[in-house]
Amino acid sequence: MSSSPHASPHAETLHRQLTDFMQEHVYPAEVEVAAWQNNPQTRWQPCPRIEALKALAKEAGLWNLFLPDPVHGAGLSNRDYAPMAELMGRVLWASEVFNCNAPDTGNMEVLAHFGNDSQKAEWLAPLLRGEIRSAFAMTEPDVASSDATNIALGITADGDDYVLNGRKWWITGAGDPRCAILIVMGVTDPEADKHARHSMVLVPMATPGVRVVRALEAFGFDDAPSGHMELEFRNVRVPKSSLIGSQGSGFALAQARLGPGRIHHCMRLIGLAQRALELMIERAKSRVAFGKPLGAQGMAQEMIALSHCEIAQARLLTLNAAAMLDAGGNKAAKNEIGMIKIVAPRMALQVIDRAIQLFGAEGLQHPFLPHAWAGARCLRLADGPDEVHIAALARGLLK
Ligand SMILES: Cc1cc2nc3c(=O)[nH]c(=O)nc-3n(C[C@H](O)[C@H](O)[C@H](O)COP(=O)(O)OP(=O)(O)OC[C@H]3O[C@@H](n4cnc5c(N)ncnc54)[C@H](O)[C@@H]3O)c2cc1C
Repeated sequence: MSSSPHASPHAETLHRQLTDFMQEHVYPAEVEVAAWQNNPQTRWQPCPRIEALKALAKEAGLWNLFLPDPVHGAGLSNRDYAPMAELMGRVLWASEVFNCNAPDTGNMEVLAHFGNDSQKAEWLAPLLRGEIRSAFAMTEPDVASSDATNIALGITADGDDYVLNGRKWWITGAGDPRCAILIVMGVTDPEADKHARHSMVLVPMATPGVRVVRALEAFGFDDAPSGHMELEFRNVRVPKSSLIGSQGSGFALAQARLGPGRIHHCMRLIGLAQRALELMIERAKSRVAFGKPLGAQGMAQEMIALSHCEIAQARLLTLNAAAMLDAGGNKAAKNEIGMIKIVAPRMALQVIDRAIQLFGAEGLQHPFLPHAWAGARCLRLADGPDEVHIAALARGLLK
């Protein structure tokens, strides 16, 4: 455990402001945003209420809180940011209000660390202002993409250009009409060592040959307007200046992207589970079965008490991973990051599942619980499958 579990005074102030902002502006907007996102006429367009909240959040200084870089972001440590991400995670769309949503956060980190000045000016600056959205295109239908060395999309040099051919899927964010830029991973050097074959290039969404094939659904949720899209790249031509970092550095960039950006998911999952627990408690107080409120019955009490313990355990592990990351970087915190990636989605699934059960059949129709469950279930894959984190952690321990 970190020797410094406490947040800095600056972070405490921001956390209080964020708590108030959630109360005053975000929770009251949930019904309106849900109506927009459920309406077939509007759901693939940005929601005006969220856009209005963004302007307010920016004005309040609650903007880009995820980025530790003090020039481009709020300059917060991961430890300081974690409780704020937890607050945002209580509402599925809230992170975007503060420009802290995936996959833009991970993409901004890549551009801030590895982009050159012109790439930063063209893409990072408008992303930081929240004017455009982005997507990260690595996974492919035809190869086991949990092993990044398998990625097969071709990025072939041709004069001053690269030409891309291949197919990607589950590309989050690519359905949003504001998605202007893709970071695409593919093979530039097929004969090189398997860790030096890949590169990442910036591909504007409007480039000829980029085609959105379809929107994918997870348990019936397509997460419009961001979406999880299947994309086809057919003779897509971009200038060589679109390369991020050096040719052959794609695998290393993918690894770098997996550090802080990805524990943000864990932080948000704590908030998701905490909200489910609070709903469970409210329900247990008001619903009467067999002559007593559910909360007066042992089995419901066990669900509530165990959920509380498991959330607290995951929260402490997350704070510890964040503090380790701040103190020693990705490499030093490797095991701690792995631990929380294994623990947080399973914990959230368990808690949300109990909440659904305690709500009875209404739990399956609830405006929050089924979507929250689907989101947590996806994170056992989307963030790299559990098995990959478990295997990496075991290897680390065995060393
Ligand atoms: C909602 C959602 C959003 C996503 N968003 C994005 C995105 O924005 N961009 C993007 O590029 N991708 C995205 N993905 C894809 C995700 O990153 C991949 O699905 C994931 O990396 C696994 O790759 P795969 O599906 O090819 O599974 P595979 O690599 O085929 O693995 C299948 C299964 O094999 C098992 N397995 C794999 N490796 C091991 C091992 N070492 N030991 C034991 N068992 C193992 C695991 O059970 C694993 O689930 C998203 C996925 C989802 C569900």
